[in-house]
Amino acid sequence: MAINVILGDITKVSADAIVNAANTSLLGGGGVDGAIHRAAGPELLAYCRTLGGCRTGEAKITPGFRLPAKYVIHTPGPIWRGGDRGEARLLENSYRNSLRLADENGCVSVAFPSISTGVYGYPLDRAAAVAVSAVAGGLGECRSVRDVTFVCFDARTEAAYRAALDELGAAK
Ligand code: ADP
Repeated sequence: MAINVILGDITKVSADAIVNAANTSLLGGGGVDGAIHRAAGPELLAYCRTLGGCRTGEAKITPGFRLPAKYVIHTPGPIWRGGDRGEARLLENSYRNSLRLADENGCVSVAFPSISTGVYGYPLDRAAAVAVSAVAGGLGECRSVRDVTFVCFDARTEAAYRAALDELGAAK
């Protein structure tokens, strides 16, 4: 089992599943969501239209279409509203439910972006701590997923995830 952090563009990653920081409509948006839809092609939006949206913290799976990844797992993370509106639990749910769905679909490798830390405004260090602990806990319950990568789009995000991973290691 491995948890890795890389700097990169998740649309270029050939994992079995990449995770999309979607919104509840599942009909596309900006940031990583827009990039994934552009790279996957219009078939992805057509497929997403049939799904009826997705609640915050839950997850739905689609094919990857033109992406190198076989599947896209779409999860709306929470919008940051100050931290006392259940944001941490909802963010944890996004990671845990995405991982479970990947596992149910036989995925071995899964790549995550930094969910909620863009337009949704979740403080980066806090989000990174939630993300790595949710994934570390969730991996223990997986039968097929072995390899999780956090794909960070900028150096600041990469540093935050590396620090969170180090801290988790130190806590064991
Ligand atoms: P949210 O609405 O959940 O905050 P955003 O897409 O606005 O989602 O931002 C989430 C993170 O995804 C940010 O760190 C952003 O820089 C990053 N991001 C944007 N494009 C990509 C991409 N192509 N690959 C990986 N991460 C990306």
